[in-house]
Amino acid sequence: MIIFGSKATQVASETINEKCASCGTPNSIQMTVFQKYAHVFWIPSFPMGKTSITQCSHCKQVLEKKEFSRNLNTNYEILKSKSKTPIWTLKDNKSRHQLNFSF
Ligand SMILES: [Zn+2]
Repeated sequence: MIIFGSKATQVASETINEKCASCGTPNSIQMTVFQKYAHVFWIPSFPMGKTSITQCSHCKQVLEKKEFSRNLNTNYEILKSKSKTPIWTLKDNKSRHQLNFSF
């Protein structure tokens, strides 16, 4: 039996100049960009593109990439272009994260 899956590692995180859509607090949005990897038997094999979430530091509302407004998508493109795709080595265990949205 071969086990496939995907994991994600954080490649960038920045507070962006954006008002929270939920509580209206300015400059409260923390945007995090993840690099997704496919893995086979939990050994990362190839990068699968990036994704992102935002969280408001005030009301803790989390938005996933698919829920981003146009402004958030613009910020995402900027942050993504600044973040490099890390070369994933087996020594990199500490920076490995499961992508999960339950903060
Ligand atoms: Zn908020």
